[in-house]
Amino acid sequence: MAENTDVVVIGGGYAGVMAANRLTQREDVTVTLINPRPTFVHRVRLHQLVGGSHGAVVDYREVLGERVRLVVDTVARIDAAGRSVTLADGGTVGYDYLVYAVGSGSADPGVPGAAEFAYPIATFEEAGRLRPVLDAAPATAAVTVVGAGPTGIETAAELAEAGRAVTLVCGGVLGPYLHPRGRRSVAGRLAKLGVTVLDGPETKVTAVTRDAVRLADGRELPSQVTIWTAGFGVPDLAVRSGLSTDALGRLLTDETLTSTDDARIVAAGDSAAPSGLPLRMSCQAAIPLGARAADTVLSRIAGEQPATLNQTFAGQCVSLGRRAGIFQFAHRYDVAVWFHIDGRLGARIKEFVCKGITTHLADEAGKPGSYRLHLVSGGAKRRQLLQAERGEVPATAERAA
Ligand SMILES: Cc1cc2nc3c(=O)[nH]c(=O)nc-3n(C[C@H](O)[C@H](O)[C@H](O)COP(=O)(O)OP(=O)(O)OC[C@H]3O[C@@H](n4cnc5c(N)ncnc54)[C@H](O)[C@@H]3O)c2cc1C
Repeated sequence: MAENTDVVVIGGGYAGVMAANRLTQREDVTVTLINPRPTFVHRVRLHQLVGGSHGAVVDYREVLGERVRLVVDTVARIDAAGRSVTLADGGTVGYDYLVYAVGSGSADPGVPGAAEFAYPIATFEEAGRLRPVLDAAPATAAVTVVGAGPTGIETAAELAEAGRAVTLVCGGVLGPYLHPRGRRSVAGRLAKLGVTVLDGPETKVTAVTRDAVRLADGRELPSQVTIWTAGFGVPDLAVRSGLSTDALGRLLTDETLTSTDDARIVAAGDSAAPSGLPLRMSCQAAIPLGARAADTVLSRIAGEQPATLNQTFAGQCVSLGRRAGIFQFAHRYDVAVWFHIDGRLGARIKEFVCKGITTHLADEAGKPGSYRLHLVSGGAKRRQLLQAERGEVPATAERAA
């Protein structure tokens, strides 16, 4: 009889669920998924949780394969030498292979008063803490959203559409990823919603107090509720477990997503740093990375050489309230181009994308191995960058993916 292989997946987000489902392709693989909550958090909807238009959770029964065992707990430490993880409740779980998919959360704001008085929304618990604060604040209360990446833009628009008086403090440029045309469109929609947008380097936040936000140029904005969306950090589990990471704490891997320390550990999603050149933290990357991580484990079990990363991006899709949105198209290597779709159609596309995410996971649960998007060719630019970093000159000028 074939020997059984135990695979433990840490983190039941987009990457972890995709990996866990895909691993059930083999009958002789037992998959255990460890996650702190009994429900799946649809993180790309957390601004909707804050605005009250969606709960941002999905029952794991809808997205997780029947053969995946869900353990509701937090991994406190990885013992790579002993091939086991220690849980917060004190128990241990052994493994033959480990998928590290702990995702991301809020970055340390590093600004006086921000940790004390501003509300982050990068995790379910954080978004949940903000909700009652907003409910208790009068409708006229000044709400300040700090950070103008997609999370900040989406949050500002969602709250303004719900009738809130919102100021979006960019600390730089509005929507740094966007093409100037796309940026103009977003700025126009935010203006229509009544959001005051403060951009430019002089709008960097230097301090947050109970009722105000101070900017680099000395301005002090009254703010009854301050929401912090500037930047993501990652859990320090890999660092605490003595594994090699990049400066942020993402697990360092090669292009097959295998840890540089240990061939039994692979990483996926926001907490992975393949070749020290991590992809943009996004659901868009996390799902294919989860599939790639599972394929790497399955290849090793089969005694085959795992394939390398082949990531391609489509762009960035940002909701601007429930009635508008923007799909900013990009090169496959993730640089925005002139073309976008905005307005109502943009909103419909964004909703389609959000629903499509859970459909991808559910499809893989029902038919493991069916997901194919991580196999679409698109890694040429990345290979060029890696070669340049290693000081190698590409033998032939490869076309950008
Ligand atoms: C408001 C908002 C809107 C967003 N919108 C978009 C968007 O439109 N498009 C897009 O591409 N991206 C978007 N993102 C980013 C996207 O949500 C993340 O990049 C994505 O969730 C990363 O997926 P992941 O699987 O790596 O991690 P996560 O989804 O963060 O999942 C990680 C899981 O691991 C668990 N975990 C952590 N530590 C441990 C531990 N020690 N033990 C066990 N489990 C652990 C976490 O609790 C979590 O359940 C958005 C993010 C936010 C906050």
